[in-house]
Amino acid sequence: MTRPLPDNATMYTALLRKDSTFEGIFVVGVTTTGIFCRPTCTAKKPKPEHVEFFSTPREALQHGYRPCKICQPLSCKGEIPEWLQPLMAEVEATPGIRLQDAELRQRGLDPNRVRRWFRQHHGMTFQSYLRTLRIGRAFGRIRHGEQVGEAAFESGYESLSGFAETFKNMTGFSPQQSRHRNLITITRILTPLGPMLAGATEQGICLLEFIDRKMLETQLKRLNTLLHAACVPGTHALFAALDRQVQEYFAGTRTAFDLPLVVAGTPFQQAVWEGLRTIPYGTTRSYQEQAALLGSPQAVRAVARANGDNRIAILIPCHRVIGKNGKLTGYGGGLWRKEYLLNLERGHRKQ
Ligand SMILES: [Zn+2]
Repeated sequence: MTRPLPDNATMYTALLRKDSTFEGIFVVGVTTTGIFCRPTCTAKKPKPEHVEFFSTPREALQHGYRPCKICQPLSCKGEIPEWLQPLMAEVEATPGIRLQDAELRQRGLDPNRVRRWFRQHHGMTFQSYLRTLRIGRAFGRIRHGEQVGEAAFESGYESLSGFAETFKNMTGFSPQQSRHRNLITITRILTPLGPMLAGATEQGICLLEFIDRKMLETQLKRLNTLLHAACVPGTHALFAALDRQVQEYFAGTRTAFDLPLVVAGTPFQQAVWEGLRTIPYGTTRSYQEQAALLGSPQAVRAVARANGDNRIAILIPCHRVIGKNGKLTGYGGGLWRKEYLLNLERGHRKQ
């Protein structure tokens, strides 16, 4: 999935200005050096005829570019930029908040800049983001026994029908039906290998996948069916810890995770995923070994399939399973990511 890029003139201007609002929107490859950079890199800027733009570090890597040592385009900067932090804090602290462009300007923010950042990081406008927060919150309240009307009012809706319509558009069912449903709150987590989509229910983390993964949409649908749930973007108590642990993992300072996981699947799948969690950090096993471990040495293919169905990447380390001949076989997030993760772990394994 390649994101559309702004036009070259816009990106080149942003590059010259070291414009941080373009962080995460593009990286630039320099044809004369074979190195790629963030827009904000402080190194001498290349001539316009020597640049090639990519929407992700991954694409730059795939085109043979090496990451710049000065701006380190593979390491991720804080998810929320400084200029946006006061607004995000206000949104967190004010349930049901609505903010129009004029109110953003009053806060010294450029509505276009805000819109661009939300489109980039959450795939939606700021207004849609606020709307999903309100609906997610209302969902939680109704699930906990609150009357629909009350929940609608608390979430800032004055009309019940307007609330019901928005609710249904977003979750696929009516507010009344939601009492018997689960809510999966989803968010994005930035990693050096690109953004990941994370999901959590009240019981724990149920999803962590790289966003450009081909199967992602199918996985989300399957998850909704399995957990009898709807996915709504928003915040969740576990996300801060998840983000921190994932960042520590990528920094090489964390070798195990201690977050509650929700692993919905058949007993066989659950056994396979449980088996994956026994592979020590920095090591690998073959599908054959995993199958033998489960007491069904013949079930190599079924083990491989269940491996591929893992929905909680990294935390359930399906990347640690390789082919019998030591070859890296399939990985939903892409072989380049599997290779990166294994190299990362090998580099930080305790001897
Ligand atoms: Zn650079």
